[in-house]
Amino acid sequence: MTIDSTMSERPLTITSLFRHGTSVHGQSSVATLGDGPVRRSDFTQVAEGAKRLAAALQRLGIRRGDVVGTLAWNNQEHLEAYLAVPSMGAVLHTLNLRLSPDQLTFVINHGGDRVILVDASVAPLLAAVLPRCPAVEHVVVIGEGEAGALGEAARYNELVSAEEPRFAWPELDERAAASMCYTSGTTGDPKGVVYSHRSVFLHSLAAWGQLELRNDDRLLAIVPMFHVNAWGLPYTGWMVGIDFVMPDRFLQPASLVRTIEEEGVTYSVGVPTVWNAILRHTDAHPSDLSSLRRVVVGGAAVPRTLMEAFRERHGLEIVQAWGMTETSPLGAVALPPKGVGSEEEWEYRSMTGRIVPGVELRIADDKGEVLPWDGKSAGEIEVRGPWVTAAYHRDPAPDRFHDGWLRTGDAGTVDHRGFVRITDRVKDVIKSGGEWISSVELENQLMAHPGVAEAAVIGVPDQRWDERPLACVVLKEAAPVTPEELSAFLAERVPRLWLPERWSFIDKIPKTSVDKFDKKALRARYAEGSLVVNELARAER
Ligand code: AMP
Repeated sequence: MTIDSTMSERPLTITSLFRHGTSVHGQSSVATLGDGPVRRSDFTQVAEGAKRLAAALQRLGIRRGDVVGTLAWNNQEHLEAYLAVPSMGAVLHTLNLRLSPDQLTFVINHGGDRVILVDASVAPLLAAVLPRCPAVEHVVVIGEGEAGALGEAARYNELVSAEEPRFAWPELDERAAASMCYTSGTTGDPKGVVYSHRSVFLHSLAAWGQLELRNDDRLLAIVPMFHVNAWGLPYTGWMVGIDFVMPDRFLQPASLVRTIEEEGVTYSVGVPTVWNAILRHTDAHPSDLSSLRRVVVGGAAVPRTLMEAFRERHGLEIVQAWGMTETSPLGAVALPPKGVGSEEEWEYRSMTGRIVPGVELRIADDKGEVLPWDGKSAGEIEVRGPWVTAAYHRDPAPDRFHDGWLRTGDAGTVDHRGFVRITDRVKDVIKSGGEWISSVELENQLMAHPGVAEAAVIGVPDQRWDERPLACVVLKEAAPVTPEELSAFLAERVPRLWLPERWSFIDKIPKTSVDKFDKKALRARYAEGSLVVNELARAER
């Protein structure tokens, strides 16, 4: 005899998260930085704003399944759109405001955006591409600033204040599309990932548990709301009833540090380059980061030295996390397992992370054979799960999937406890004389040198070894460091075969639209001969 579950199958929707936060955490706050004083609201007011926005969008003709784009910083209006658009059955498309005009045009058209909400400060960017986006029917400008060529467009405040704070949220299928993001991929056109209500709901619960967010946290999400839904934190935070501190466009280290101090921020998240810049700022200007209890850093490998420096200088715990647009993004979090000593604890913290429950992960070699979790066998990481994409929007891309698993493009190992160590992007691995050199490991070791501000390593063609590493290094101001010295420093930390002969000292590492090292740009600069390369004698092997 089979037994049927007696559980109700109420749909897992953003609307239900939205309702919960509104009814339970009405007094939690949302502060947004601006040119003038900090704007302050509570969840009750934000929920009213979201209802008015839904009514206004409906009046503009937005119906179920229509796509509403946002080109906006992290601010209250953006949070209102996060809540309103999916809850009314439409699809929120967060546009990356650092894309090139061509890429922005591509994602607006490919996503099928009908309305775009745009911050006044980036209105010129949208104005420049709009003539090439025929499906966009309405543009709504957020904020009071000048909107240049979009000066005639509707204003967010006027539009929403003309509506009542009432909206009859529809019953939605949990599998319905809720929001979409495009990958920030540096090769080819960006690829669209469409999240469902169900995937966002489940991801929010997982993120709550894995990131250990608490009701009394005050969150400064430095990661933009256009980068994988700010790692899901707007939804998780709303559900948990945290206080949001929204940096808007004020993302310079000095402003971020001042915000942490003045707003008593307890929790923050961002990519390593941002936290590296904050660290350097605090080294030069005495700062008080003592309100912070947790910082989660991910999006790129987090150098162990960065974590150690924050702990030593600020008593601050950095936790590394791994994920991607395709995984909503949470896939692994580096919380050390129980029962390990302090040195071992650091080993675990500096790994990429432990697989989060709900995500299945395996590694496959280049023939597609699945490899053991022994901490040594290296291959491409593949994942699947209820918040992992199983396709791309209007782009079959069969080469990105393997028997229903997403091929992440990340290479690494997994140990018997489910701790992942990413050694490289598959396409960044340096293949030298039949051996693999991890560019990420070389970068992390270089950035451990006290004179180095940032370092990125790329593979460059080599007659004898096929490929060899080229180390591109940004020195801290006035640090008189030579390639020989860095090579000697590395020699104590990595295999001899890995030691780069080629060195280039540059002013800054080019960054992608989400602030990661842009190795494609570095490769292009090398190929066109615009990097000054210093070549050391080849080390004996
Ligand atoms: P995105 O879709 O822009 O978030 O990029 C996802 C990619 O960022 C992943 O596939 C990884 O290559 C990289 N990434 C994210 N987190 C980490 C991490 N903790 N360590 C190393 N690489 C990471």
